Amino acid sequence: MAVSEVVLVFLLALLTALATGLGALPFLFARKPTRRWLGLSNAAAAGLMLAASLGLAYEGAIRGPLGVLVGAGIGFVFIVLVRRLLSVEEHPAVFAGLGGLDARKGLLIVGLMTAHSFTEGVGLGVSFGSGTDLGLFITLAIAVHNIPEGLAISLVLVPRGVGWSRAALWSVFSSLPQPLMAVPAFVFVETFNPLLPYGLGFAAGAMIWMVFSELLPDALEEASGNLVAVIITLSVLAMVAFQVLIR
Ligand SMILES: [Zn+2]
Repeated sequence: MAVSEVVLVFLLALLTALATGLGALPFLFARKPTRRWLGLSNAAAAGLMLAASLGLAYEGAIRGPLGVLVGAGIGFVFIVLVRRLLSVEEHPAVFAGLGGLDARKGLLIVGLMTAHSFTEGVGLGVSFGSGTDLGLFITLAIAVHNIPEGLAISLVLVPRGVGWSRAALWSVFSSLPQPLMAVPAFVFVETFNPLLPYGLGFAAGAMIWMVFSELLPDALEEASGNLVAVIITLSVLAMVAFQVLIR
């Protein structure tokens, strides 16, 4: 394994991380967001994340159904711990300008999306370890799939008062584990490969939890149940179609 190969894997994984920032671009054209479309944004983010997490669970179940369940269980423990941590810290300083509750929510979604990127970085590195063609294909798939995930993050952050450029930076931040994990997973492919179902289960479980525990209740608070249901349904279907298209 040449050093140039390792550098190439790192750079390609870095590009996938940068693609996440593209998801914030629609907000470049949005006027100052109001609380009114917070509910609808949350519904759209919920649909995108729900479909994305089912895709992850499916990929994991192909490799090891039991591992996915165990991974989801670890994810649940992780979330309980993170929530306890966040309730102690009332005003996370990283989202200056947001109220305590909004900042907590922003931190939660950025944190969960960052955690789920670790698995995708491992997936990227492992696929390069199994062949350059497969690696390039997975890189492209993850890069394209990162764009709606950046959109989901921005849909949560921007209506709560974070500017589009900061939302783009947080989106890229959430994908930084991809280049960081891709390199060790590529170099030690034999070690990382069996861990993938657990990681995928962890990521999928945490994201599904986020949808039903945080995004959906918020959406229903600001918009009618019917409208929320329509938007979630449409965004789930759009994301599924999108995932099939980029396969
Ligand atoms: Zn993802």
